[in-house]
Amino acid sequence: MLTAAREVSVFGDAIAYFNEAASLLDLDPGMRRLLTHPSRQIIFSIPFQRDNGELEVYTGYRVQYNFARGPAKGGIRYHPGVTLDEVTALAFWMTWKCAVVDLPFGGGKGGVTCDPTTLSPRELERITRRYAAELVEVVGPDKDVPAPDVGTTPQVMAWFMDTYAMHKREYTPGVVTGKPLEVGGSRGRVEATGRGVSLVALAQMQEMGIQTKDARVVVQGFGNVGSIAARMFADQGCKIVGISDVTGGYHNERGIDVAGAIAYAQEHHSLDGYRGGERISNAAVLELPCEVLVPAALENVLTIENAPRVQAKLIVEGANGPTTPEADHMFAQRGIVVIPDILANAGGVTVSYFEWAQDRAGYFWRESEVNERLAEVLLENFKRVRDVASLRHVPLRTAAYILAIDRVVRSMNVRGVYA
Ligand code: NAD
Repeated sequence: MLTAAREVSVFGDAIAYFNEAASLLDLDPGMRRLLTHPSRQIIFSIPFQRDNGELEVYTGYRVQYNFARGPAKGGIRYHPGVTLDEVTALAFWMTWKCAVVDLPFGGGKGGVTCDPTTLSPRELERITRRYAAELVEVVGPDKDVPAPDVGTTPQVMAWFMDTYAMHKREYTPGVVTGKPLEVGGSRGRVEATGRGVSLVALAQMQEMGIQTKDARVVVQGFGNVGSIAARMFADQGCKIVGISDVTGGYHNERGIDVAGAIAYAQEHHSLDGYRGGERISNAAVLELPCEVLVPAALENVLTIENAPRVQAKLIVEGANGPTTPEADHMFAQRGIVVIPDILANAGGVTVSYFEWAQDRAGYFWRESEVNERLAEVLLENFKRVRDVASLRHVPLRTAAYILAIDRVVRSMNVRGVYA
């Protein structure tokens, strides 16, 4: 578990960012009230049988935050720290993330409070099937489309899809994205979030005059997002000087062999015992000298306590909500540029959108086509965010929220509020 420096409501912090942008947009108070309430929050028990026959009960959640622009969209998290507050914040962020890259989706998120690392594959399958069965009536390609997040995988998505198909008696691959290729997944989806992180980072580095060959990059979290982002940065000639996962951090001034670290983590299920760098604490990783810092683990890791010691020039939020509002203000004061989560990690949901579109058309694209369209969507919308930032003299995060809120509000105004 990540240790937060203060007891926080993740959703409360998320609203603080929203309010900052909403004030600049002169948003109508009624609309502001509406947008700070989730449309639907679902909590349920998940009874499941351990392999030894013991019966346990976990708690499952699905929050459907907003449907103005399309079906709810967002991942499923399996983690011991999952709470309704966290899932609501994540669903809230998904609303703005989908809007900032102009996808025809609303926002949603789900989770189960469990530790998947302690579960056997059969136990994981049973939990997933029961979780999916509870949601059969409220998810669907035109209702709510889940995807992977922390602790869930393409295999988990395949079990979710299969359970839905069994209940509905129809093959509906578009009910969930991030699936394996064999059951309607998209080429390029596994790499999409990390690829997107590196794409927007490289565009911003160019703006700031940071050459890739001179760039030292630090990546916190070495899962799907962090490890792939690290590989993409290394492929572009950057030097990865620090990586970490839940077991600790690793520092190597000469550059970490990313492919070797990925192979190690795959073989050992974590970086524990990795010898390609000096072992340091998780906290120290965030404070290493570097040009680019990529938090790609969980929320609230950059706080008012460690913000003064962060040495990066550019922070690219691979994770959702890694920076508290106080730390964010300090970074702005210190001239550290932050590419906000809702834009930086939107590559995953963008390729999820491509997957949903491919499933519905029954026609699948080449990987090069997926990657080209991903770059087009991200870089075009990143440019719009930068334009709003320079026009209004605001940081990139506020600009991203302004663009996203404006798009959602336009849809809501055209549809009208059924009140
Ligand atoms: P993952 O489960 O694949 O990896 C998470 C990584 O974080 C693991 O390496 C874990 O060991 C590490 N970690 C956990 N606690 C840590 C700590 N205290 N210090 C350092 N590392 C720690 O998850 P993921 O899919 O890579 O997601 C990471 C973040 O990116 C989350 O915030 C998630 O919401 C966000 N995100 C993921 C996607 C996606 O497509 N997977 C898309 C958008 C955003």
